[in-house]
Amino acid sequence: MKITTVGGYEEVGRNMTAVEASGETFIIDMGIRLDRVMIHEDTDTSEMSQKELIDKGIVPDISKVKGNVKAIILGHGHLDHIGAVAHLAKNYKNAPIIGTPYTIELIKHERRYATIPNQLVVLEQGETMDISSKTSIEFVRMTHSIPHSTMCVAHTNEGTLVYANDFKLDDTPVIGKKPDYDRLKQIGKDGVDVLIVESVHVSNEGRTPSEEIAKKLTEDILLKSDPDKGVVITTFSSQIARIQAITEIASSMGVTPLLLGRSMQKYTSIAEKLKILDLPDGTLVYGDQKSIKKVLTRVVNDGKEKYLPIVTGHQGEPDALLSKITAGKLPYKIEHDDQVIFSSGVIPNPINEANRYALETKLHMLGARIYKDAHVSGHASKEDHRDVLKILQPKNIIPCHGNLTMLATYAELAEELGYSIDKDIYLRRNGQVVNL
Ligand SMILES: [Zn+2]
Repeated sequence: MKITTVGGYEEVGRNMTAVEASGETFIIDMGIRLDRVMIHEDTDTSEMSQKELIDKGIVPDISKVKGNVKAIILGHGHLDHIGAVAHLAKNYKNAPIIGTPYTIELIKHERRYATIPNQLVVLEQGETMDISSKTSIEFVRMTHSIPHSTMCVAHTNEGTLVYANDFKLDDTPVIGKKPDYDRLKQIGKDGVDVLIVESVHVSNEGRTPSEEIAKKLTEDILLKSDPDKGVVITTFSSQIARIQAITEIASSMGVTPLLLGRSMQKYTSIAEKLKILDLPDGTLVYGDQKSIKKVLTRVVNDGKEKYLPIVTGHQGEPDALLSKITAGKLPYKIEHDDQVIFSSGVIPNPINEANRYALETKLHMLGARIYKDAHVSGHASKEDHRDVLKILQPKNIIPCHGNLTMLATYAELAEELGYSIDKDIYLRRNGQVVNL
């Protein structure tokens, strides 16, 4: 088996791995890097050329991907795993794109704006399909921070590969079911030749708390908020479980939930269509700037306290809604003692940190009450990772999704379990190869 570590092996973002087994190649993930040139989940990159995107480090450099690509497999729907499909999949137009229903619907949405000639194939959590006579792909049910996440297992003639990027072990995930531990145990018993595993939060001691905890944190802040003042909340547009919780809490308080932003509309409408998300009656959703301005004028006229705007811009992105509201560019203004809730963490990179600092400074100057970190991560912590290693007992390990420090931190954990970086742990940068 030959594994090319195409993208995501020296950064958080741009995930892509190519696997060659029995003379066939398949690709897992095709992601975008969100911290390059000020792009984020609300940015339109459809006008940029493939060369420009690769040169700027926004999408993976695919020059090292060789062979006849049989399939493109997408483990879950986050942009750092699927955001480059619109730009790169056409290079492998005979390869079907395989994903869970939510992921495939997101690709269909992209197809409105980009050329994606590939066949789109739905594979449910818990199902297996052949991509050739020699290789089958299995999606094991997993939890993360977007619906329909999987751990991908490739059963090949040259061995079994498990791709665990991204995941958390959440036994009370608010939406969906807990991870399929029984199947993971069986896969471990049958033998895993190589585990490719995310390392975003492997340096966090302990476990990542359940999404149920984020719901409680957010609920506590909302229920104690000043009912006579405005409340604005921001979270990840793809965090459908959180949006379900926030809209339900707002509704129970007699406040109208108001989902605003291009990506907010995209992710929630697809989740509604697939019956993953059940928005309370009366919830309003607007994506385009004109409708947003219009509805915010109505909110101001009716009284801000009657609505809960749930907006994009949790990382402080200057052109996202929360920054625009804070800058006074929209009819809804932040006034003294208005409450701003970040149901999100800061994705740690200098651009986000600077943007958030600037945004929070402006909010403080306006006299806003700020609530940060009503959030739990979607990424496994050290002890979750240890559990997965114990269950799967892979013969070889390739840490992915992180800079070299994160990958090495994963390697240190693996060494605690008896692995060794000179034997069965492979640290690679983008564009390099592991031969097994
Ligand atoms: Zn993810």
